[in-house]
Amino acid sequence: MAYDQNNIFAKILRGEIPCDKVYEDEWALAFNDINPQAPIHTLVIPKGEYVSWDDFSAMATPDEVLGFIRAIGNVAQKLGLNEDGYRLLANIGANGGQEVPHLHAHIFGGAPLGPMLARGHIDKIDT
Ligand code: 5GP
Repeated sequence: MAYDQNNIFAKILRGEIPCDKVYEDEWALAFNDINPQAPIHTLVIPKGEYVSWDDFSAMATPDEVLGFIRAIGNVAQKLGLNEDGYRLLANIGANGGQEVPHLHAHIFGGAPLGPMLARGHIDKIDT
């Protein structure tokens, strides 16, 4: 999928739309989700133009990959989540339920988060 420079996170990166910033470095920006699903719900995005994890892992430079991964760890630490734990999630593509076509990692924390996937959403799983 081609990168859409008008996606909402691209606008946030360009400063055209405000965000509740948690962390920023050369490689990544982190900000609180506008519709939080947990007491702490922060998004971490790479600064480069990548739609998905496949796109990022294939095309990003080693510095970009390292920078994004390190930023996620730094954000979790900055949010004080290391001791009690947290959930890291990336929705990719249609089946993943990705709404914004700029790669992002969700960090959820601040309370026990329950099952990994919501029950009852998958009609049938072939085993
Ligand atoms: P996805 O479903 O693509 O993994 O998640 C996109 C996330 O972006 C959703 O949790 C949604 O609430 C969040 N979001 C969408 N638009 C905005 C926005 O303008 N600002 C912020 N801070 N979060 C947004």
